[in-house]
Amino acid sequence: MSEENKQGSIEDIYADAAHWHVNTGGETIHAKRMPGRFRNYKWYASILWLLYFIGPYFRWDGQQAIFFDIPHRQFHMFSLTVWPQDIWVLSLVLILLAMTLFGVTAVAGRVWCGYFCFQTVWTDWFTWLEDKIEGNPIQRRKLDAAPWDARKIRLKLFKHTLWMLIAIVTGITFAAYFTDAFDLWHRYLTLDAPLVAWVVLAAFIFGTYVFAGFMREQVCFWLCPYARIQSVMLDKDTELPTYDTKRGEPRGKVRGKESEKRGDCIDCHLCVGVCPTGVDIREGMQEGCISCGMCIDACDSIMDKVNRPRGLIRYASEKEMMGISLPPLFKRPRVIAYSTIFLLAVTGIIYGLSHIPPVELSVVHERQPLFIQMSNGDIHNKYTIKAVNKTLTDMHVKLSISDADGVEIVGGSQEVVLQAGRLLPFSVFLSAKPAALKEKKTKIRFILENIGTPAVKIEYKSVFMSPSGS
Ligand code: SF4
Ligand code: SF4
Repeated sequence: MSEENKQGSIEDIYADAAHWHVNTGGETIHAKRMPGRFRNYKWYASILWLLYFIGPYFRWDGQQAIFFDIPHRQFHMFSLTVWPQDIWVLSLVLILLAMTLFGVTAVAGRVWCGYFCFQTVWTDWFTWLEDKIEGNPIQRRKLDAAPWDARKIRLKLFKHTLWMLIAIVTGITFAAYFTDAFDLWHRYLTLDAPLVAWVVLAAFIFGTYVFAGFMREQVCFWLCPYARIQSVMLDKDTELPTYDTKRGEPRGKVRGKESEKRGDCIDCHLCVGVCPTGVDIREGMQEGCISCGMCIDACDSIMDKVNRPRGLIRYASEKEMMGISLPPLFKRPRVIAYSTIFLLAVTGIIYGLSHIPPVELSVVHERQPLFIQMSNGDIHNKYTIKAVNKTLTDMHVKLSISDADGVEIVGGSQEVVLQAGRLLPFSVFLSAKPAALKEKKTKIRFILENIGTPAVKIEYKSVFMSPSGS
């Protein structure tokens, strides 16, 4: 039976408390798992991460729906293809994600860490398996201290095998976003994957196994840079898991009439026992707190047992604890600032995605030499054309010029086929009779048109150079 189902009396909880102590970073934390409202939220959030595992297998128009095509420098997402030329849209996406994180932190502290971060989610899965296989935290500590026998070897082997399987699937899934997912599985299974795929897999197996299996929330405590910078995003309005000192103190064990003179905290240490980072929230806001709410569930269960109102530990701001009501979100300067940047980024992304042209054209004028005078006196200029077809179908296009009296393409308009999702570089020569040129530098316009559908017409301004005008 899992420990969640063995919620005993207050005496049992006091007996357990001897095993729970504040984390000082020197040992693996074995947090007690308990049911509760915030525990459920944590499960719902981690279920979202299952999308990560199925993401590479979605197909769209016969292709992998989400595909980072590094060799061709393209990012495919359903019917959208982002090219290096559109990288500014990705920059806006990063700004949007950062503002979301900052805004959420300003309002509710490290809830990202407590509920959504891959480190805490994977750790939660790993420790859930550990709890099922080796038992509750007390049984696990005993097992760790016990000599190696057949039972210990069997349990440890089973647990580490499952951990390793999760680590392997995590690594293969990550690599699958960068190549054809089904083909990658085949290549891994036939040992035919490229070296880079093996390196990615090895890095993910190592990272997942060590960080989620052994270091666990010590990563949040000691390694995560976000833990260091989050304090600058918090203010007196930020709602954090908070111990109500006025109500809880003086704390003390439940003992007959004596209890009546005490606060509501019965000093059971259950809030410390369930804390994945092993902090004692009663000592105030701490760097190690990831706002997961596990201590709230634990303390609420105790308050139910001793017939006191829930909420001795609750999400509350410093102002609320001082009896000052919270201002609405739209009146908080930090929220206003983050929301404004967020909205600007969203506007930019929507504009960018709806204006990504199906074809990109760039023209580079040859500089060495700027022009050539032929034996018949004609002036020639050379240009390098780069045309990118961003659609999923080949395009038959025609290149012509306009706005250039007397200048023409050598050999007439150029017709080429642009392959789907490919860049085509090619050269063209323009020619003019010196008598037709009025200036050294004649403005011209290249026009690239699709012959057929969809109707595409892209223009690019350039110049035609000559030794002198007439
Ligand atoms: S705050 Fe709640 S869970 Fe923590 S020791 Fe006091 S009564 Fe127990
Ligand atoms: S103190 Fe409470 S909210 Fe903070 S990490 Fe520990 S259990 Fe989670």
